[in-house]
Amino acid sequence: MITVALPNKGRLSEKALALFERAGLRAEFTSERALIAEMGPDFRAIFVRAADVPEFVADGAADVGVTGGDLVAESGREVETMLDLGFGRCRLAVAVPDGSEIQKLAQVPSGSRVATSFPRIAAEFFGQARIPIELVRVSGAAEIAPHLGVADVIVDLVSTGSTLRVNGLREVETVLESTAQLIVSRTAWEDPARRPTLEELAAALESVLRAERKRYLMANVPRDRLEEVKRVLPGISGPTIVEVLHGGNWVAAHAVVDENRVYQTIASLKRLGAEGILVTRIERLMP
Ligand code: AMP
Repeated sequence: MITVALPNKGRLSEKALALFERAGLRAEFTSERALIAEMGPDFRAIFVRAADVPEFVADGAADVGVTGGDLVAESGREVETMLDLGFGRCRLAVAVPDGSEIQKLAQVPSGSRVATSFPRIAAEFFGQARIPIELVRVSGAAEIAPHLGVADVIVDLVSTGSTLRVNGLREVETVLESTAQLIVSRTAWEDPARRPTLEELAAALESVLRAERKRYLMANVPRDRLEEVKRVLPGISGPTIVEVLHGGNWVAAHAVVDENRVYQTIASLKRLGAEGILVTRIERLMP
């Protein structure tokens, strides 16, 4: 049995659960507030705070976990990243009040008070920049600290930047970029009994992520234009061509297409005389 630590609430929790479900691992809760759920015969999920996931994985309480790359870095724990899950994209940034004269990192004065819930990363970052700072540890809402007069600078997560703007703050430097990660403990990864199941898990989740950006496109096309069809519908290893019963000059062409190429591909197929064009989502894609 492999134990997976998943965020119990917050921005990453729903997406993490949905991803596992699409990979065929649906969490079966025994009660509304259950903190443990079965996920098929080989996995069970434990639900913990996103910030605690690296600890649980590093300590061996869980074999794998899902959490933000920022939280993995802040934890300072030794875990391996198996897969970048792509969601929960944000950056950890240095920001200053709008009116500040600071335009870039090098202008942050020595002794500045830096409010952050990422003290480890912030200390290391300013340490590398050789700017001595005074850390003001907060557990959230660092944006308020400059207004309260308890900090001059903040290091906080930003995705669109609108929270910073609303709070009269301006970004001056990116400390790190973050997305949700599938992490594993080295012990679990190196255990021959667990390794195959962990690899299967990563492959299953990856197949869902890969499929998200692809569509399956089907069209009836004139047989005598197949060479041109192949050019607009390259697919993974060329389109699949299927006979249409009593179709005469018509055959069906099927191929996997990048989501952002669907519009153009349909237009090109139509120019070749295609009919009955159908585009569907793909659940999973394992090349
Ligand atoms: P939670 O605080 O439990 O909602 O989860 C926060 C995690 O979600 C962070 O550590 C990031 O990995 C991720 N995240 C993505 N976008 C943002 C954002 N704009 N603000 C805060 N966290 C974000």
